[in-house]
Amino acid sequence: MDWETGAGRMRPAFEDDAVFALLAEEERRQRDTLQMVAAASTAPWQVLWCNGSVLTNVTGEGYPGRRYHSGCGVFDRLEELACRRARDVFGASFANVQPHSGTNANLAALRALLPRGGKVLSMSLKAGGHLSHGARASVTSTLYGVHHYGVTRDGLIDLEEVRTLALGLRPDVVICGGSAYPRELDFAAFRKIADEAGAALLADVSHIAGLVAAGLHPSPVPYAHLVTTSTYKQLAGPRGGLVLGGTNVPDPGELERRVGAAVFPGVQGTPAPHSIAAKAWAFGHVATPDFHAMCRRIVTAARAVAEVFADHGYALVGSGTDTHMVLADLRGTGTTGWVAEKALESCGVLVNRNVVPEDTLPAAVAGGLRIGTNTLAARGGDAEHARRAAELIVGVLGSVESHGPTSYTLPPAARALARRRVAEICGELRDVPAGPGPLSPTTTNVQEVMQP
Ligand SMILES: *Cc1c(COP(=O)(O)O)cnc(C)c1O
Repeated sequence: MDWETGAGRMRPAFEDDAVFALLAEEERRQRDTLQMVAAASTAPWQVLWCNGSVLTNVTGEGYPGRRYHSGCGVFDRLEELACRRARDVFGASFANVQPHSGTNANLAALRALLPRGGKVLSMSLKAGGHLSHGARASVTSTLYGVHHYGVTRDGLIDLEEVRTLALGLRPDVVICGGSAYPRELDFAAFRKIADEAGAALLADVSHIAGLVAAGLHPSPVPYAHLVTTSTYKQLAGPRGGLVLGGTNVPDPGELERRVGAAVFPGVQGTPAPHSIAAKAWAFGHVATPDFHAMCRRIVTAARAVAEVFADHGYALVGSGTDTHMVLADLRGTGTTGWVAEKALESCGVLVNRNVVPEDTLPAAVAGGLRIGTNTLAARGGDAEHARRAAELIVGVLGSVESHGPTSYTLPPAARALARRRVAEICGELRDVPAGPGPLSPTTTNVQEVMQP
């Protein structure tokens, strides 16, 4: 079979038509849509295969050499390999690869830094922070006394404001990094503020971990006490999380022990060995020229999207981008984020609505649109593909007729044109890699084989 595309996969010996038909349908959906959700990426087939491997069958509470179950010899070596690679690609003092998600990585990092509770200063959800940084809906808000900093009208972090807040509040931990911040983060300045306030610094690079590893965004590792990230976004790994130790900390060994205990048994039980195998492969991939080239395309593609939006008169949060992400401010265009997202989805373009600074609309409607270039670049797309994608997005936004915050019509001709453009671009991109088989002789005839 073709490992990249999965063509030639065998029909399964057992049949569950309902599940396998849905898997096949999902594969086609991913190949035929233009995925531009900033929090998403596309995993190489090796990640999918590791993740679908027999490591799923290994139960091994604890850490390498210190498991509470037998039969973990191979898994021990894999986890050590994953940790070594993560340390190497980020230059970190240690790595914990067990968190099942980015949220769990943050829960564990906070628990390691604040075993008996304390005060946290983080960017608010509205300004682009993350739920797990102490938002009211998250358990983190009940465990710590949380205060937030925001962004300016222009969508930029005001470091003077952060410093003033930190010196007034004297938090135990300052968190930087978020989910909707398109500009570069100044980790050195954050560390200086944390030091002045007597706080530890936690940097969450979930969205930009690939650019950090590729040297296209400054690294927090020399400045933060702990660095967290999810592994399925820009790292193009499996769903999961990672905690890294900073290099400028008083006692990295002690911090590593505290992170270890905070992950297990603090917030999790058994690790996910299949996912750790996939992380090990993904961290190896991060060190390759291929990955670095992809990251360069991510950045140039995002700049191209920003240029097209600016050329068409759209305001951009942060006035542009240094990363994979463009946050367009739709206020004043008569179209909400909700309408834009739904209209584009109906054309096969996936983006998401997002609040913008001083947004008066609720998050479920939102005045902004967040667009990312990870998947486009992972499928081999470059700035030219991104420019065409942005033109088609702007075209749809220009054709949509809004009847209210969550009500619209899109003229059929505009939708048909957009769909044609999507098909053209997807046709030039690499296929989304296939997951482990056996599924069916080919992707396209799964339907025939599967459906009664
Ligand atoms: C996505 C994200 C997370 C959470 O990751 P999950 O794996 O979804 O729990 C944490 N922090 C930031 C900044 C993120 O963008």
